[in-house]
Amino acid sequence: SIVVLGSTNMDLVAYVAKAPARGETVTGREFRTVPGGKGANQAVAAARAGADVSMIGAVGADEFGSRLRAALEHSGVDTDLLRTSEGPSGTAHIVVDDEGGNAIVVVPGANATVTSLDHGDEALIATADALLLQLELPLSAVTAGAVTARGLGVRTVLTPAPAQPLPNELLAATDLLVPNEHEAATLTGLADPHAAAEALLRKVPEVVVTLGAAGSLYAARGAKPLVVPAPRVRAVDTTAAGDTFVGALAVALGEGRPVPQALAWASAAAALSVQRPGASSSMPYRTEIDTAFDP
Ligand code: ADP
Repeated sequence: SIVVLGSTNMDLVAYVAKAPARGETVTGREFRTVPGGKGANQAVAAARAGADVSMIGAVGADEFGSRLRAALEHSGVDTDLLRTSEGPSGTAHIVVDDEGGNAIVVVPGANATVTSLDHGDEALIATADALLLQLELPLSAVTAGAVTARGLGVRTVLTPAPAQPLPNELLAATDLLVPNEHEAATLTGLADPHAAAEALLRKVPEVVVTLGAAGSLYAARGAKPLVVPAPRVRAVDTTAAGDTFVGALAVALGEGRPVPQALAWASAAAALSVQRPGASSSMPYRTEIDTAFDP
């Protein structure tokens, strides 16, 4: 099974020809509310990929909170340890323009109340094959989760997004770090993903740098790096491609599959998600991944 310690956000998306400048008002074309947050997205990806998944985090005591919880449960994610905190749920205010560019304000809301582990979290983490972490909760909670999992012998998988400097205590408790190219460059100051991966191996034992349409790069201490190409597909929306990839990768590794096969399976899952619009709604189910992986 997999446990995710992470964020839940309601994405509030306005579609507009051109984003407004400061002081300007523009009329948008369409508005959508979409359940998101990196933690919740990874939980949905892993559940659809076939694992038993539980989510630790917090939603707010508002309508968005009930919808966020229901969306997780709809994809089969256990929310027994997802808390409801006072105040608003996390929200992401997104403006998408006609060129596909976006501007985003994230207000953490309930996510900011998750500053440490709570009663029952450790016992749940102890049952897991892997704990998935991102950086949309306070670093104190992310670090506590990683250190706890490490102490229990549970594999820790950290997506360092949004990119920010990582405390040594967190890195020291991370087994697998999965940055995209941009995050790898921010963490190391090295634009070349191969060089960045090598630098990151001084801090963690295993790294996967995702390379968008170019696939992914796996590096481990004492082994030759491995590049896994992505399937060539027509991408219509790459939102949450990375979260789909990480969720599926954790499931495959948890099932004991060898790393090259796990990476290829995760690539098949992510490639399916980019061919459909949406974030978690575009994530594939296990049978679809198996079909795409082994045609
Ligand atoms: P993020 O979504 O976090 O920015 P990436 O853009 O690197 O991360 O994408 C994550 C993974 O999703 C890639 O490693 C790849 O497997 C898959 N992916 C992303 N874009 C495409 C694409 N255009 N075609 C096929 N696979 C893709």
